[in-house]
Amino acid sequence: MPEAMRFEPAEKTSVVAEGLKVLKMGMGGIPLQRLDVKQSDRVLEKAVAVGINFYDSARIYTDSESKFGRVLSRHRPRVVIASKSFSRDAATVLADIESSLKQLRTDYIDIYQCHNIASENDLEKIFAVDGAVAGLIRAKEQGKIRHIGLSGHKPRIVIMALERFAFETIQVPCNFMETESMQELIPMARQRQAGVIAMKPVGGGNIKEINLNFRFIFNQGVDVAIPGMDSEKQVEENVAALTDLSPLTFEESARLQKEKDRLGDHFCRRCEYCMPCPQGLPISFLHVLKNYYFLYNLKDWVWERIDALAKTYKDCVACGQCVQKCPYNLNMPEIFRTTWEKMLVDKGNYTLKGKD
Ligand code: SF4
Ligand code: SF4
Repeated sequence: MPEAMRFEPAEKTSVVAEGLKVLKMGMGGIPLQRLDVKQSDRVLEKAVAVGINFYDSARIYTDSESKFGRVLSRHRPRVVIASKSFSRDAATVLADIESSLKQLRTDYIDIYQCHNIASENDLEKIFAVDGAVAGLIRAKEQGKIRHIGLSGHKPRIVIMALERFAFETIQVPCNFMETESMQELIPMARQRQAGVIAMKPVGGGNIKEINLNFRFIFNQGVDVAIPGMDSEKQVEENVAALTDLSPLTFEESARLQKEKDRLGDHFCRRCEYCMPCPQGLPISFLHVLKNYYFLYNLKDWVWERIDALAKTYKDCVACGQCVQKCPYNLNMPEIFRTTWEKMLVDKGNYTLKGKD
């Protein structure tokens, strides 16, 4: 028997912060922005019905908080709601919490996080006397939030944050493609009893080996994963992934490595931090279409979508605004230019079904 099989499977539930027992499969709020309210109501009701009880939103996810609020307010207190603010000072964080409470239709938020702490400069701001952390402490004393957390894409910065303050949760990118947080940060968080929330757990939808990926991360100390879900089918598939949480065998690890080699590390995680594009390009969706075209060979489907889009690859004017905001340093002007060129070249050799 391979060595990895000697361990017990991980549990399906976890305590993400004191008193908050959650199903390990939570839901991230970003994709809800793409749905109309009827669709998001259906997806959320389905999620609650199958037992998902951890929901993560943020002030900057446009109407995601209000979509959560419409449904989750009917299921309080059985659900755990997390949200976050990009504000770095106490006064603005406190104002953001009031807005979140209103949008979420609740009088308390279980976890409120400093959103995307990305640099030492961010740390200085949030730990200032009138910084965001002071605001969160005040909101907790007032009972408006129950726990204080922080999210970030850079493990080194999150470690520095944990060294300065007892954040109760950390939220970091975590999947078999992005393992940096597993080396030092997650063990440190566990040692300090901070809950570990995995964002981008399926790499923005790029990862095909979803079940193996979840088994991998849940055996690395992750308490709850928060994939975005935009359909009832996705909700079912993600929860079904909890059926088997046994550690990977060597053969399964090799399959993941093969997938890793296929994807490389230069891909969009659909976090939408780059939005909005002043030219109106749906940036993350264009990355998805690129993958469907070149990785999965769904050419007809992609050309139909491209024809229906108001703005696409060719409309990028290379202003660079999205590049500055992307935490993965993706170079959209270059990626979109080469994608469009390759697609046009390919189209020359390729006849759409039912056309020409
Ligand atoms: S570089 Fe292109 S995709 Fe990015 S914001 Fe500018 S126009 Fe939009
Ligand atoms: S391009 Fe970058 S910022 Fe935009 S969605 Fe993708 S990973 Fe996120």
